[in-house]
Amino acid sequence: MDAERFLRFLHEDIRECAFATIGGDGRPAIRIIDLMLHDRDSVYFLTARGKNFYRELTEQGFVAVTGQKGYRMVSLRGFVRQVEHELIDTMFEQNPDMAILYPGETRHVLEPFQLFAGKGEYLDLTVRPVVHETFAFGDDCIGEGGAPLARNADALPDEDRTAAVPSGSYFVTDLCTGCRSCLPACPQDCIVLSAESPKARIESDHCLRCGACAEICPHSAIERSA
Ligand code: SF4
Ligand code: SF4
Repeated sequence: MDAERFLRFLHEDIRECAFATIGGDGRPAIRIIDLMLHDRDSVYFLTARGKNFYRELTEQGFVAVTGQKGYRMVSLRGFVRQVEHELIDTMFEQNPDMAILYPGETRHVLEPFQLFAGKGEYLDLTVRPVVHETFAFGDDCIGEGGAPLARNADALPDEDRTAAVPSGSYFVTDLCTGCRSCLPACPQDCIVLSAESPKARIESDHCLRCGACAEICPHSAIERSA
């Protein structure tokens, strides 16, 4: 999967994104931040050294981001790091509105950050079935806790696919008998049973993660990734 096209959509078409961290009181904290730049494997943004957000980024090194345009949205979760201060000038050149907020030398209270590795989801609700793609990004393609992330889960052997299934995804286990009870419960018709396999399969690229199939399966054969 090509992460760059999702990062480009987030930066160029959405730009204003919600960024979530853990606040100083241990509860969720969220704010809107403009993306400044992107490259093949990361996105860049700014914040001021005096803000809680700056402290949370430097202490936690992790952030969740989401943005929406119409009924198309991208969400990211991943690792952040502060990058060289000089990048501020490039960001201001490419985002001239920033000079209105921070004129002249006042820009130097800002620090640039890079969201450099993590996982993402893209959801397009304008089509039926919906498109729900997942991807990993980052040269240091690592997951939470340092676990390696698969760039393309579809390319993995079967035994590794469950580990690469994005968090919150539904998948069919070997308990499936092919009884077909789950098929009419799916709002997107994205559970398939083929002549080649007696076991149902969820087309994750079209799945809403609603869980209706897991609720109805009489054999508890559908599980949700942690
Ligand atoms: S309802 Fe359960 S056992 Fe029946 S086809 Fe669906 S996943 Fe398989
Ligand atoms: S969670 Fe199950 S029922 Fe819901 S969209 Fe996905 S496959 Fe269909």
